[in-house]
Amino acid sequence: MKAATRMQGTMLFHVWAMSETRRPPDSGAFGKKGPRSVPGMPGEKSLRAEIDDQLLWAELVRRPLRGVLREREPMSRHTSWRAGGIADRTYHPADLADLAIFLRSLPDTEPVHFVGLGSNLLVRDGGLRGTVILLHGGLKQMRMIARNDAGEACIYAEAGVASPKLSRFAATHNFEGAEFLAGIPGTVGGALAMNAGCYGSETWRHVDRVLTIDRKGELRQRDVSEYRVGYREVVLRTVETDVTDEGATAGPGLIAANAEDIQRSAVPRLSDEWFVAAWFKFASSDGEVARRKVKHLLLTRIATQPLSEPNAGSVFRNPPGSYAAQLIEDCGLKGSRFGGAMVSPKHANFIVNTGTARASDIERLIEELRDSVLREFGILLKPEVCIIGEKNHAA
Ligand SMILES: Cc1cc2nc3c(=O)[nH]c(=O)nc-3n(C[C@H](O)[C@H](O)[C@H](O)COP(=O)(O)OP(=O)(O)OC[C@H]3O[C@@H](n4cnc5c(N)ncnc54)[C@H](O)[C@@H]3O)c2cc1C
Repeated sequence: MKAATRMQGTMLFHVWAMSETRRPPDSGAFGKKGPRSVPGMPGEKSLRAEIDDQLLWAELVRRPLRGVLREREPMSRHTSWRAGGIADRTYHPADLADLAIFLRSLPDTEPVHFVGLGSNLLVRDGGLRGTVILLHGGLKQMRMIARNDAGEACIYAEAGVASPKLSRFAATHNFEGAEFLAGIPGTVGGALAMNAGCYGSETWRHVDRVLTIDRKGELRQRDVSEYRVGYREVVLRTVETDVTDEGATAGPGLIAANAEDIQRSAVPRLSDEWFVAAWFKFASSDGEVARRKVKHLLLTRIATQPLSEPNAGSVFRNPPGSYAAQLIEDCGLKGSRFGGAMVSPKHANFIVNTGTARASDIERLIEELRDSVLREFGILLKPEVCIIGEKNHAA
C-alpha cells in the first residue's frame, strides 16, 4: 500500500492548498445534525440550518481523505460480468464529503469514471486509464424526509445505495411504485444514469430532484427539467447542446447508451458531472401490496433470466415495436458462443460468462448478434450495456 499512501499524500497537499468552501447538500447526512427537509415541503429548512450546514460542510471538506485508494485494480472485481481489464486507480469514498475532497485533489487532466455495481458495464481487457470512483457502500445514506398533503413522500437516497434496497425501504414505509427496482441489481446512481426500468416503470418517473457533483467537488441540486430523459437515456441539456459532431451525447456518467453502434460507444464522451443522490417521490399505499408485487416480479425474473451466471442484464435496447431477445432468437443464436461468452439459452438478450470469458469475447459476441440481426431483419440493435476502456491489442 506504499503507492497508495504516497498518492494520498500528494492529493492531500492539493486539498489543503485549496481554501474554498462547498455548500452542503440538503441531506442531513452530515454529523449529528439530524435530517433536513426538502424546500417547498413541510418543515422547510431555516436560514440558521442553512448557515449551520455551510459551516459544517466547510469543516468536513478540510478533513484528510478517509476512503480507500487502490492502484492497478482489476475491474472484473467490480462488474457483474466478472470480466475486464485493470483500472489505473480506484477510489472508494467513505462518504459524500470524502468524495468531494478526493475529486478536488485530482489533477484536471485525470480521467474520472463513476461506477456503481458494474451491472451494466463492460470494461475492455486493456483496462481503464485514470481513476474509477466506486460508489457502492460509501454513499449509502437513505431516509424518508417529508410527506405532503397528497400523501407523497420523498425518499432521499445516495447514489451508492443498491436499487433493491431503495425498493425494500419504500415498501417498508408503506409506499408504492418502487417495486420494479427490486430486481435491478445496480445502485441508485446507475439507475439514474441509465433511467433503469422494467415492467412498465422507470426510475425518472419517480425523481423529484437530483444532487450532482463535478470534478471540483462542487455539489449542485438539479431539477428533472434540466435533463432530457428517455428509454435508458438521460442527458443533461447543457451537455447536449455542447455536442456537435460525435452524435454520442452524454448525461452524467452516461456513456454508451446513446451510441449509434458499438464502435462509436468505444469512444465515450464523458460528462464531468455525476449523480451523488436523488429525492424520490412515491405514492402512499399499503406496504403489503408492494411487498406482494415485489415477490411476484422477482419470481418472474428467476423463471426467465439466467441469474446464476455472471451477466449484465439486457445487452441491447429493444428497438421500437420489437424485442431484441425475439430478434436474436429468430436468428437462431440462442446458445451461440465466442470464447467463454455465450448467448443465454434462457434469455437471448442476455450474454453470460461461462467462467473464462474475456471482455473481448463478450464484445465480439455482441458484434456478431448485432450484425446477424441487421443482416436478417435490417434492424440495427443499439447496446444497452456501457462499453468502456481500451482494447488489449496484445490479446
Ligand atoms: C441480472 C440483471 C438484470 C437487470 N435488469 C435490468 C432491468 O430490468 N432494467 C434495467 O434498466 N436494467 C437492468 N439491468 C442493468 C443494470 O442493473 C442497470 O442498468 C443498473 O441501473 C446499473 O446500475 P449500476 O450501479 O450497476 O451501474 P454501473 O453498471 O456501475 O454503471 C452503468 C453506467 O452508469 C454510470 N454511472 C454509474 N453510477 C453513476 C453515477 N453515480 N453518476 C453518473 N453515472 C453513473 C456508469 O459510468 C456507467 O456508464 C440488469 C442487470 C443485471 C445484471
